[in-house]
Amino acid sequence: MANLTRDFFIALSNNEFLNASAKKWGFRLGAEQFVGGVDVEGTITTVKKLNEKGISCTVDNLGEFVTMKSESTEAKNKILSLIEKIHEEQVDCHISVKLTQLGLDIDEAFCIENMREIVDTANKYNIFINIDTEDYLHYDQTMRVLYLLLQDYSNIGTVIQSYFYHAEEDMDKLSNVRLRIVKGAYKESPNVAYQTKEEIDANFLKLAKKRLLGNAFTSIATHDHELINELKRFAQAENIDKTTFEFQMLYGFRTDMQEALAEEGYLFCTYVPFGHDWYGYFMRRLAERPQNINLIIKDQLYTGDNKLKTTPKVVATAAVTAAVISWICARRKK
Ligand SMILES: Cc1cc2nc3c(=O)[nH]c(=O)nc-3n(C[C@H](O)[C@H](O)[C@H](O)COP(=O)(O)OP(=O)(O)OC[C@H]3O[C@@H](n4cnc5c(N)ncnc54)[C@H](O)[C@@H]3O)c2cc1C
Repeated sequence: MANLTRDFFIALSNNEFLNASAKKWGFRLGAEQFVGGVDVEGTITTVKKLNEKGISCTVDNLGEFVTMKSESTEAKNKILSLIEKIHEEQVDCHISVKLTQLGLDIDEAFCIENMREIVDTANKYNIFINIDTEDYLHYDQTMRVLYLLLQDYSNIGTVIQSYFYHAEEDMDKLSNVRLRIVKGAYKESPNVAYQTKEEIDANFLKLAKKRLLGNAFTSIATHDHELINELKRFAQAENIDKTTFEFQMLYGFRTDMQEALAEEGYLFCTYVPFGHDWYGYFMRRLAERPQNINLIIKDQLYTGDNKLKTTPKVVATAAVTAAVISWICARRKK
């Protein structure tokens, strides 16, 4: 049943009509809780607040279903202005990018051109660029672009998804490159990826431990306290230098745990998405954990001092949310 719910939200995340409509509604469905800002200025303010708590950030310009070169150019320009702002304000922050947003589906050479400009500008300021990994369909192309850029730049790295059977082999080829280890957010075929939580978690631990014993910096990106606790135990037992790795979580999720890890002296980095195009990102978060919807209800129904809000917008939002939850519950009973 968990798989059905996951499939439902992944299907919603891939729906272009809903994606376009969601942009029009703005943040009215509670997505701002998981989005660091709508523009560069606002996002830098969020980054500064996290930096004050000893947390560094990786910022992601939201945007999916890019089909026109002009959209990619616009995205690239936004990322370039973000780089300038990070340098100007001297905030502790790097950037995560998605190659499809920068034109991978339109023309690989065009995407590489965009990436070169981004990585080159960031390199001048010593800012790291992470290439987020997307679904399996884009995997080979993503690696091709990465390897090409690695010939000229060292301020670039990527993400290894532990659900893929080939994850360890690919990770080992990048043993000198900064990497983020994640479980993987897309629906993939059993021909290429593990399907059960047990297998994915086991591979995640295997990969993360191998990296901790290696040479290059590693970001351990999960909200899973059991995996985090196991890796903390492992790092202590193996005397791993705390400056060689960091934990990462998404903005708005398990904020208490994010702050606690930073207070414990671990390097911590929050992934801060920004922009209006929040829909696909947000649906994937619901696919991972439908309970995330509770956070929206709480945010939409209650004011900061825990008093019930009574605006019609809120009632409408609550009704939509309740309908989605009912749908999930009904499917669960089947
Ligand atoms: C910083 C970051 C970057 C990422 N980048 C990519 C990428 O480039 N490509 C990609 O494919 N995927 C990426 N992901 C998504 C990732 O692949 C997973 O889909 C996502 O992190 C969900 O897996 P999880 O390990 O966090 O926890 P899950 O497997 O969703 O949950 C495991 C357990 O953790 C606990 N838990 C999880 N979330 C919460 C919560 N909010 N509150 C309370 N308990 C909770 C629960 O006990 C749950 O059972 C990224 C994730 C992060 C955090």
